[in-house]
Amino acid sequence: MKAEGPFPFGYFLQVCMKTNNISDNVLAEQVAQTARTALKRLVSRGLLPWPEAYTEEFWTVAKTLDFSSILSKKSCTLISPETLQSFMDEADNVLGGVKDTVHEFVATTRQHMGEMESSILSIEEKDLDNLFREETASLMLKNKTLEAQARQTEKRLQKQTRIIEELRSKLRIDGLTNLLNRRAFEKDLEKELAKIKRYKYPLSLIMCDIDHFKHINDNYGHRVGDKILQKMAEILKNGIRETDSAYRYGGEEFMILLPHTTGEQASRLAERIRNKISIFRFLLKKPETSIRITISSGATQARQDEDVEEIVNRVDSAMYEAKNRGRNRTILL
Ligand code: GH3
Ligand code: MG
Ligand code: MG
Repeated sequence: MKAEGPFPFGYFLQVCMKTNNISDNVLAEQVAQTARTALKRLVSRGLLPWPEAYTEEFWTVAKTLDFSSILSKKSCTLISPETLQSFMDEADNVLGGVKDTVHEFVATTRQHMGEMESSILSIEEKDLDNLFREETASLMLKNKTLEAQARQTEKRLQKQTRIIEELRSKLRIDGLTNLLNRRAFEKDLEKELAKIKRYKYPLSLIMCDIDHFKHINDNYGHRVGDKILQKMAEILKNGIRETDSAYRYGGEEFMILLPHTTGEQASRLAERIRNKISIFRFLLKKPETSIRITISSGATQARQDEDVEEIVNRVDSAMYEAKNRGRNRTILL
């Protein structure tokens, strides 16, 4: 029997079923505890901590659920995308395992109950003595309790599954700007590149970088810098279609992924966004003033059979070309 491993639900439930020694709420509590232990085990293997960027809500959830080992690792450095990917894969396995086991468990319990009930009914028909009937009634009651516990367990596990799924979606979001993050960008771009291989439609990419952003931080402080990044994210989001996606790629660098868009169309969109940003005034209270910023952008269309790295390198080169030619412009490569 497999007691070790990432998530020994099967083993645990088999033991529960076999011993048939389950008191009120114990089963539900033990299953919930096992789920917590599994997450803690991922932590102890070094698959966490989660990046600081993933917001207060994440830490609140971790605290509420008493994931003390996650909390204790809060101050560690950011993890690599590979490690994060490996964690996500494990989380997927955990979710899959939880769902399968719960469904199997509930189905087995129901089947077991059905069998018990029909055999009890058939015994009653034989008109056995009162004592035996009392025994069977008590057994039926126990069966009802077991079913209630199974339902409760199912509910708890569904709730935990929801929490894990919410955390997974938060892993795709940048905490400061609420845009999708670099991890989400790389995943989405990979998927889009696979799609265009098959369906042969144009796909383009824009990379924008705020010009001389360091000066903004140096002159007005980091908080003002942060507010500008948030406003920039808002302008990007409002400037694209539903089917396009905007990402915060790095500090003051953003990407826009544009399916069904040619390089020329992407370049025109990049210019429209650049223009919008260059005329926007960021108002400050202290000192009472307004700041204007400019961005440099690169645009490019994906080529058949190229991978994420190739297209990202090209759009990066286009953006640097825009910087080298004096900033506040768009270059299409
Ligand atoms: P360039 O025109 O060549 O792009 O110049 P730059 O100053 O924008 O570029 P550089 O790479 O020298 O500096 C980027 C700055 O962005 C430095 C860093 O402090 C700032 N930055 C990165 N992330 C954040 C953030 O989350 N908040 C704030 N306020 N600043 C950030
Ligand atoms: Mg910059
Ligand atoms: Mg930069």
